[in-house]
Amino acid sequence: AKAIGRGNICSYDVDMDNEQQQRRELEHDLGHAIARGEFWLAYQPLVNARTRQTTGYEALLRWDHPRLGAVPPDRFIPLAEETGAIIPIGEWVLTEACTEAAGWPNQLSIAVNVSAVQFWIPSLVDTVRNALQISGLPAHRLELEITESVVMRDSENVVRTLDELREIGVSIVMDDFGTGFSSLSNLKSYAFDKIKIDRSFIATIDSDSSSRAIMRAIVGLGHSMNLPVVAEGVETEEQLQFVASEGCVQVQGYLFGRPAIAPAFTDLQVSAV
Ligand code: C2E
Ligand code: CA
Ligand code: CA
Ligand code: CA
Repeated sequence: AKAIGRGNICSYDVDMDNEQQQRRELEHDLGHAIARGEFWLAYQPLVNARTRQTTGYEALLRWDHPRLGAVPPDRFIPLAEETGAIIPIGEWVLTEACTEAAGWPNQLSIAVNVSAVQFWIPSLVDTVRNALQISGLPAHRLELEITESVVMRDSENVVRTLDELREIGVSIVMDDFGTGFSSLSNLKSYAFDKIKIDRSFIATIDSDSSSRAIMRAIVGLGHSMNLPVVAEGVETEEQLQFVASEGCVQVQGYLFGRPAIAPAFTDLQVSAV
């Protein structure tokens, strides 16, 4: 790569130059990050909306860049999707998360985010099978969170992949529900096991009556299709009260716990069923 000296006065926008440069640097470094041990998984609890008992955790990818420090996933995942690095990274995430969760009390589930790009290549089903086999995690404890971008393309292959995944015994969660373009028709065409309402609706529940209306509509829709509904991004008691009273069975958010290093359980907790 061409080295551009720091402090050079260029004839074009310096910010743009920096942005381009950092982007290229990140894209390049993403290719080495697994081998260099720069990734780790943070885990955020999902809790029963009524009892507040933890039912499982969502694995959230973290990247400690040697020079830039923590790079947020919203910044590097899109780059990894563009370069294809998300394929090996996604495999790493699945294996790591399943291996971690295999040591937890066995009523706890683990949710893993799967990128649309992973869905569009044929090896996803094998990757999931391998992760379960290597870790020994029972398939029913694994939930794959997918967004609507998965189902917006190539529906025949997507349906087949979803069917194969379900045959293995994992569940499929529609993440960020309500933010996509074709939400309603997707719910009908694909048999999801659960839907997660996007946190943008939860964040504005207190202030925005249309958010409350949308929330109600989504939960009602979920119920009419026998789908449990999860609310993410719950930060306050008021939000919890509202989503629970509307019928969300599970909740996730800073009110219950931020994403953090893997939870530790005593041997006693692990062996207790
Ligand atoms: P997501 O799957 O919708 O994950 C939820 C995001 O909301 C996480 O951000 C989480 O830290 C944040 N969050 C949870 N509770 C609260 C809350 O109460 N308040 C607020 N303000 N935020 C809350 P994070 O960890 O930065 O991840 C951002 C996105 O990056 C994820 O959104 C997901 O789309 C993507 N991502 C993260 N890890 C992976 C991964 O392993 N693979 C893929 N493909 N995508 C991932
Ligand atoms: Ca998610
Ligand atoms: Ca989400
Ligand atoms: Ca999101």
